Amino acid sequence: MAEAEQRPGAEGVVPGNREASAAGEDSGTPGAAARDRPVCLLVLGMAGSGKTTFVQRLTAHLHSVSAPPYVINLDPAVHEVPYPANIDIRDTVNYKEVMKQYGLGPNGGIVTSLNLFATRFDQVMQFLEKKQQDHRYVLIDTPGQIEVFTWSASGTIITETLASSFPCVVIYVMDTSRSVSPVTFMSNMLYACSILYKTKLPFIVAMNKTDIIDHSFAVEWMQDFEVFQDALNQETSYVSNLTRSMSLVLDEFYTNLRVVGVSAVTGSGLDELFVQVEDAADEYERDYRPEYERLRRQLTEAQSRKQQEQLQRLRKDLGAVDMSSPAEEVHVTGPSDLIMTRGNPDDSEDDEDSDTDDIDHHATEESKEGDAFGNFLKERKEVVQVRNRKCEMPDDP
Ligand code: GDP
Ligand code: MG
Repeated sequence: MAEAEQRPGAEGVVPGNREASAAGEDSGTPGAAARDRPVCLLVLGMAGSGKTTFVQRLTAHLHSVSAPPYVINLDPAVHEVPYPANIDIRDTVNYKEVMKQYGLGPNGGIVTSLNLFATRFDQVMQFLEKKQQDHRYVLIDTPGQIEVFTWSASGTIITETLASSFPCVVIYVMDTSRSVSPVTFMSNMLYACSILYKTKLPFIVAMNKTDIIDHSFAVEWMQDFEVFQDALNQETSYVSNLTRSMSLVLDEFYTNLRVVGVSAVTGSGLDELFVQVEDAADEYERDYRPEYERLRRQLTEAQSRKQQEQLQRLRKDLGAVDMSSPAEEVHVTGPSDLIMTRGNPDDSEDDEDSDTDDIDHHATEESKEGDAFGNFLKERKEVVQVRNRKCEMPDDP
């Protein structure tokens, strides 16, 4: 993960930044100049909803209003990153190599890569801290499959680490064209709702692909229960009864929800999006920051020690396996070498005996998952070693 140079001409990746050039420098980013820290936009959404295209479009838009964002790609399996990424997980973790070394399939490889990356996210934070004066926004693209991020220890570590230092907003990208059935629409909104509760951050639903279909039907469904019921009545599906009851529950969720129709392809809706982003950033400052500051204080105490221990353990597991690119031994400046470096000298600070504390009052699901992940890596390594030994054994008569 060397922090990449912004490739020249990258802002031209997407043609036609219409609003931007017409509207002047600070267009689309009202209030942003007044803030002293950049806002992190965590882009989440189902596979194919358009996250990567959306990040590409936002990047192009922000470049065109002279507010280049700091962009982080967290998808280890993406073939091509169509925007200039300052940090790219693929520079750090070779997910194909992870699959090979640990004998994993694609999904396991992606999750493991993200876990490995998360063990060194502190270095990403150092880069962000250094560069924060130069950027108003940090864009974070996430793995194709949403649950890799939202239901993994690493996703939680990354989200909480970011949110305890910077204002953070979740943008849930939704494929509007694939939500035209009321049942599918509601499933998607239920998922959005679960992400809201899981991430505990200000939340914006970006109804994407409005170039294919306008999102007004969805907004109407959210505002007018009767209209949604009428649409449901057209459905013969057996789930529609359940949907009817569920939609009552969702009504509460809808009332405070920020919804914007966008097209990542044409760039429409971005001005409105940034109005919502600023509003969400204000909400973070008002309602979330105190909570995250409390979390951070906690983290600097007992929990942080535990978390550090887990991270160290993961790093040690990582150290026993070569999953690096050929550049591993080459000393380059940037976080990539640090992430791939084994047995850092600074590991010494955690010499004290940690096993004396048998009862862990601070254990969280994520921390347990950290242990489980360490064991998992060890077991996988053994399996692969046994398999390799078998392959190497000559055919004894
Ligand atoms: P991701 O898996 O969420 O990152 O989705 P991608 O950004 O890779 O997009 C998935 C597909 O949707 C690609 O074929 C994109 O070209 C397409 N797509 C993304 N955004 C839009 C949009 O606003 N309009 C249209 N028509 N297609 C889009
Ligand atoms: Mg993507």
